[in-house]
Amino acid sequence: MPVSDGVDSKTFPELLRHASIMDQFRISYPRGPLEKPPAVDADPGRFRNTALFMKMYGDCQKGEVAPRLASLPWLSKTWGRSIRITSVNGVDKQLRAVSAEIEALPGNIKRAAYPIAGTYNCRAVADTGQPSPHGYGIAIDLNTAFSDYWYWRRHDGSIIYRNRMPEQIVAIFEKHGFIWGGKWYHFDTMHFEYRPELLWADQ
Ligand SMILES: [Zn+2]
Repeated sequence: MPVSDGVDSKTFPELLRHASIMDQFRISYPRGPLEKPPAVDADPGRFRNTALFMKMYGDCQKGEVAPRLASLPWLSKTWGRSIRITSVNGVDKQLRAVSAEIEALPGNIKRAAYPIAGTYNCRAVADTGQPSPHGYGIAIDLNTAFSDYWYWRRHDGSIIYRNRMPEQIVAIFEKHGFIWGGKWYHFDTMHFEYRPELLWADQ
């Protein structure tokens, strides 16, 4: 596949809709605790090359993603309902490991991780019209009662950052290759998605 499309002058809205594989790396993802709210339009991981993701995980509109989903129990001792995530690239194995580690956290912290709001869902991202990572089966949304979303935090032309997702949960996801939507200027703090290239590329 072509890594670059040779266009260096894309605007932020263009990058959200027409990212090349190289464009995915334009904004580096900060590992570990956030020291300050993300800068304007710093959304590491929201640039996705649709062709690459469809090739890896399939096109959910064509029914290619669902047959590759695996079921696993989420927080089996605490909540225990079955969730579905793709088996491609071993994402299901990574999420099993995430579940086991969150299970060992204190009750008041792991409360943010259940009930979950969803995993696989063949839909588009509301503000870009692009395929959602939920449609590839690589994303999970945790407890909505602990979540904050940029759209509801707009004030006088800017966005006021807010987060209630515990740092311990974020650290466990990152260890297993999932980025967190709480590190985006356009934050979505219940959202985690399997993007190892952003976490492990320079290690
Ligand atoms: Zn999500």
